[in-house]
Amino acid sequence: MGPTKFFEYLGAPLKNSRWSWGAVRSDGGVFLRTWKDEVRTLGDDTHYLIFNEQPASKGKANLGCNERRRHIDSVIAGAPCFLVMCSAEDVDAHPRRIESFDEKNLIVGGEIVEVEGELWIKADGLASIDAVRTTSARKFGEIENVEVGEKFINRAELAKAGVHPPPVAGISGNKEDGADSIVLSGGYEDDEDLGETIIYTGQGGNESGKQVADQELTRGNKALAISFQRGLPIRVTRGAKHKSQWSPTEGYQYGGLYQVAACWHDRGKSGFKIWRFRLEQIGVSTTQAGDSQSAEPATLNSQGGTSNPSRRKTTTIRVVRDTALSKNLKQYYDYRCQVCDLRLEGPGGAYAEAAHIRPLGRPHNGPDTTDNILCLCPNHHWLFDVGAFGVADDLSLIGMEGNLVSLDGHDIDHEHLNYHRQCICRV
Ligand SMILES: [Zn+2]
Repeated sequence: MGPTKFFEYLGAPLKNSRWSWGAVRSDGGVFLRTWKDEVRTLGDDTHYLIFNEQPASKGKANLGCNERRRHIDSVIAGAPCFLVMCSAEDVDAHPRRIESFDEKNLIVGGEIVEVEGELWIKADGLASIDAVRTTSARKFGEIENVEVGEKFINRAELAKAGVHPPPVAGISGNKEDGADSIVLSGGYEDDEDLGETIIYTGQGGNESGKQVADQELTRGNKALAISFQRGLPIRVTRGAKHKSQWSPTEGYQYGGLYQVAACWHDRGKSGFKIWRFRLEQIGVSTTQAGDSQSAEPATLNSQGGTSNPSRRKTTTIRVVRDTALSKNLKQYYDYRCQVCDLRLEGPGGAYAEAAHIRPLGRPHNGPDTTDNILCLCPNHHWLFDVGAFGVADDLSLIGMEGNLVSLDGHDIDHEHLNYHRQCICRV
């Protein structure tokens, strides 16, 4: 694999395969190309060179250099950073050419220090490529120590606090994880802000506040559609340029958690197709884990969950539990219902629900482990929860024709099936 393909594989494609020295992933993570030999010990720690002034920079070198400055600004503002370690064909050549690079591990970037005009980043250990690819830095829900109403001077401060990691984009999210945060900054003529309800216009086709082309259900719009489907909480921040009585007079203000209550497309004021999202404020602040930490490939481990899941108080319209564990199980079943084999395909991708056999929380106190979870379509999830059918030990259905489909590797605990038959099932 060449370096260009490698950055794509990491989920952070290079902006330009000739002059880019690194790239930013959609969750804000920054990947920097660094040279193995440009290393030094500062204090007790290993540091790698990430920036020095290019002698007589011009042309491509200058483009790469300017982009590197922006990447470093993001890291200083709090973005996670990973180093792609390269060896040069000839260390004295200028510019250098990559001979080889580490395809198995990345170095986690830590503190950045300046030494005589050069910037050096501390090596904070190794991260395997697989871990980096499947672990996004995305955080859903409230950020610790950030209160609703808190103000930030600029986007860099907002990113540093972890409220909204991308330095420029208005939507923080991607087509795998969904969206975790948006910033309203007056960029879209069709936005409406009623405080607790916001009609938010998706991204794209916009030039200095005017809609000039159709929007598509891609990138941030797709991320919001996924958040809608999964019931994920979204942090909302208003900027001073956003025309609303709830906007701050300067800088940015965190407005709390919202949920996408509806997602549709429409003709905007300019006549172009726009994607719209109705965001409704979540009454009680809640922290909900996203499913972005899920481990690929889909394998199951009934020990992988927790037998004492924390229950979170929330007044959301619809919270669909989607932990790493439940997402893993759904992927394992390719989002097919274990009762009817139905596979639902929405604009945000395939959809299924994780149904707990012995329910979580009082008085049942079921564990959040895969041996207590089924992958069901919404209809069968509801019917199962209200006890309209049960499952016998031989996996035949009670109160309904047929058998529960169970794939090898998904060991269902018969005690939980028995508990459901005794306490929940009404047939
Ligand atoms: Zn079904």
